[in-house]
Amino acid sequence: MGNIKGFMEVERETPRPRPVGERVQDWKELYQAFPVEKLRDQASRCMDCGIPFCHNGCTLHNLIPSWNDWAYRGRWEEAVNTLHRTNNFPEFTGRVCPALCEAACVVGINREPVTIREIERTVTEEGFARGLIKPLPPTERTGKTVAVIGSGPAGLAAAQQLTRAGHAVTLFEKNERAGGLLRFGIPDFKLEKSVIDRRLEQMIAEGLTIRTGVHVGVDLPVEALRADFEAILLTGGAEQPRDLPIAGRGLAGVHFAMDFLAQQNRRVHGTPIPAAQEILAEGRRVVVIGGGDTGADCVGTSIRQRATSVTQLELLPRPPKDRAPETPWPMWPNVLRTSTSHLEGCERLWSIQTRAFDGGPDGRVRGVQCVKLHWAEQEGGGRPSMREIAGSEFFLEAELVLLAMGFLHPVRSGLLEGLGVALDARGNVLVNANFMTSQPGIFAAGDMATGQSLVLKAIDGGRRAAVAVDGWLRGGESVLA
Ligand SMILES: Cc1cc2nc3c(=O)[nH]c(=O)nc-3n(C[C@H](O)[C@H](O)[C@H](O)COP(=O)(O)OP(=O)(O)OC[C@H]3O[C@@H](n4cnc5c(N)ncnc54)[C@H](O)[C@@H]3O)c2cc1C
Repeated sequence: MGNIKGFMEVERETPRPRPVGERVQDWKELYQAFPVEKLRDQASRCMDCGIPFCHNGCTLHNLIPSWNDWAYRGRWEEAVNTLHRTNNFPEFTGRVCPALCEAACVVGINREPVTIREIERTVTEEGFARGLIKPLPPTERTGKTVAVIGSGPAGLAAAQQLTRAGHAVTLFEKNERAGGLLRFGIPDFKLEKSVIDRRLEQMIAEGLTIRTGVHVGVDLPVEALRADFEAILLTGGAEQPRDLPIAGRGLAGVHFAMDFLAQQNRRVHGTPIPAAQEILAEGRRVVVIGGGDTGADCVGTSIRQRATSVTQLELLPRPPKDRAPETPWPMWPNVLRTSTSHLEGCERLWSIQTRAFDGGPDGRVRGVQCVKLHWAEQEGGGRPSMREIAGSEFFLEAELVLLAMGFLHPVRSGLLEGLGVALDARGNVLVNANFMTSQPGIFAAGDMATGQSLVLKAIDGGRRAAVAVDGWLRGGESVLA
């Protein structure tokens, strides 16, 4: 800890987003670079509190006070290495993580927390710029073969760890490029895809084989997979979206969020989209149903596509502005979160039930019938109950409706049914404490095992599953532990 008074002398500062009028004209990342001098000032705000609650807030248990100190001292190599001891991809979490660590930061008890996520991002970028992040191929090969199915953050982290442990790893991906939701869900304005490509280059140089455009269980029979690989790790995500089966659901112009977002990510990459399949917000009034991250990404994407207006509906009540008593420090707080997309021009409505989609004679959606809800706390602390408020019905005109209400569980047909792995009560792949499914030698991690979650949790799951797979292949202690 270099500056013992840093947290008293320096105010929290984060990189500024580019002005709204400028950033909505393109798909580039919206934050401006953070000068290294400012980064060092911000790192000095970490007070090395002795019991770093941030370690616990962060699922990856990142060694935050240590890298803050290295960053403050300008010791880039040590900072970069400390970041990578617990996280394969700090450049992803440094951009898109909600920063559970900051909610648990001790400085945050009575001041603004340390800007941990931005320090993580800037240190990693500095590491790449200085050539400090290099391929780390294994020194010995085990001759064992592993298939990892699904190239989201869980699959990527596991594949990198297992390759470094010396195994011959093949990463299968049904899409045309690797990255999972980092590539096809999260828009470029939050995470430019060159950031993923840069990391993939490192992984390939380490010896990883990536086979894209292979839908395992559909294009590649599971029997072939079992025959060719000694261990299989399933990291296929939780891709089954929650639907809204109300009147008018079949109208043209009502789409799942991921169909809209994946298409725009492909468009930004330069992939041609057949005209008949295009889902575009331009010149349309857009209603986004669902108030989470996916919904916010639909808002920002619609605005960049020049929607006439964007309205986001949420079933639940508006969260409080400040930390609620039910989620005291160091817990992740239930508070109103306003994303950069919301600030680009969106109306947000809470406690709204969607009753039906209305269509015109052309079969296209023309609006959404809604009603306001009253939420009441249950006596004894049960789940709050909701009722429609009589007379509060209203109609929202819309030519494009995007369903962003989360994901139920992994897709079962093909891979999972073919392998015959058991599912848990929520429909996710059931695993034991060693990430093994009901089938010996077949493991699962990430959203496929936990249900829809976060990038950092997927990376953590991938890393821990890699330890389990490596230990199982060796019949003992893992070299990754
Ligand atoms: C729009 C959106 C925005 C998000 N924004 C954020 C955010 O800002 N911050 C955050 O922390 N989290 C965010 N999340 C959540 C986060 O992206 C996920 O929790 C995370 O990507 C899960 O990682 P994963 O590796 O388990 O699965 P995924 O990222 O879903 O990857 C699974 C991959 O497996 C492939 N696959 C599936 N089945 C097969 C098969 N049979 N054969 C071959 N390949 C297969 C899929 O094509 C996919 O590429 C967001 C999610 C969405 C949908």
